[in-house]
Amino acid sequence: MMKMTDIIEKKKQGAALGREEITFFVDGYVKGEIPDYQIAALLMAVYFQGMNERETFDLTMAMKNSGDVLDLSFLGQTVDKHSTGGIGDKLSLAVIPLWRAGGLTIAKMSGRGLGFTGGTVDKLESIPGFNASLDQTSFFELAKSNGVAVTGQSASLVPADKKLYALRDVTATVDSLPLIAASVMSKKLATGASIIVLDVKYGRGSFMKTKDDAKKLAELMVKLGESDGRKMAALLSPMDHPLGYAVGNALEVKEAYQFLCGESGGALRDNAFALGGLGFYLSGKVSSQREGFDLCRELIANGEGKQAFFSWLKGQGACFGAERFLAAVTYPTAETFVFAEKDGVVTDIDAMGIGLAAMALGAGRRTLDDTIDPGAGVQLKKAVGDCVYRGDVLAVLYANVDPSVVKNEVKQSIKIGPRLDEKTATEIEILSENKWELYNIDR
Ligand code: URA
Repeated sequence: MMKMTDIIEKKKQGAALGREEITFFVDGYVKGEIPDYQIAALLMAVYFQGMNERETFDLTMAMKNSGDVLDLSFLGQTVDKHSTGGIGDKLSLAVIPLWRAGGLTIAKMSGRGLGFTGGTVDKLESIPGFNASLDQTSFFELAKSNGVAVTGQSASLVPADKKLYALRDVTATVDSLPLIAASVMSKKLATGASIIVLDVKYGRGSFMKTKDDAKKLAELMVKLGESDGRKMAALLSPMDHPLGYAVGNALEVKEAYQFLCGESGGALRDNAFALGGLGFYLSGKVSSQREGFDLCRELIANGEGKQAFFSWLKGQGACFGAERFLAAVTYPTAETFVFAEKDGVVTDIDAMGIGLAAMALGAGRRTLDDTIDPGAGVQLKKAVGDCVYRGDVLAVLYANVDPSVVKNEVKQSIKIGPRLDEKTATEIEILSENKWELYNIDR
């Protein structure tokens, strides 16, 4: 008979736990047979002693199998992405239509936002009529008939993560590499896609603060997915500045749409092409990463990405043509302008400052029960490296609450100096087939 105290003692001493021991504590915790205080002690032991790759894989699988596991094999090959979260991260909205336009099938479960990070489901729900609460039958049917379906995460998926994450949150054990990797990958693997591209971010506006940690997390998660038979790749990108210009749900939808119309460059386009291109490469639609990036570019130039976007929305209840779309996602919120107080160059835009301001304006949730204002947020008018003159508009705040409290925060987040010291190029690294390479669109 296995005893929880023996398992805690073993990990406390730094030994590796066996698969049966890991399954025992995960199942016992989900069933309510093992109390919080014993799991809390074990989590702290894992925090200090770590887990090897085999243990982390066993933990991931035990968590994955703690609830429903979707079988998407009836759809053939399916592609999914996961972002570790960032400010202004609208990449799902940008990449899913490209993948669909390129003939890939997407059946994806996405999250809602919490704290400073937004969630794809909230963004999609800012589109009038869009239904992101599909039951499993409709989700499957839509993915089959329309090639793309995106819905909120079902409550019956990976119950072990819900309990373990809540306990980690109150025991200061969130920032443990094996626990993060198992938490993320158990959910991704349970949702069934055969191809998964991970978007791991690092920096001030993200969960992982250092590039080294983000790299280790990416490598670990890729291995976990591959060990479960998935085709995997990862992207590593900085999140010191917001991604693109818009932070807020409907504002981000509009920016993603403009990207699909060929109107966005910079970090949004670089990240979207890297992510989209990797999905095409892993699926075998193209024979090199370079061809994958080119295909993304082509699907924007020929309008097929935009068409796929409208077809996706229509499938989920939001019927618009291009003429009416931007008006339909424009909300009657008050606008407040943030002006530059001196001449110079934008040297920095602090992602976290902008993210917290957008949340305070109503774009995000502080707690799970908060409601979101779909039209609220921050629309940046300048990017790092732009020259500005006193009186130029740096940002527009959209809100139905008094924005004066955050106006200063936004102003402080956008630094203006005499010259740019910082490197502004988007440095994206790609992990594919066991090697890291710097992403270069011209490769
Ligand atoms: N996101 C997750 O889903 N799990 C973690 O542990 C951290 C971030």
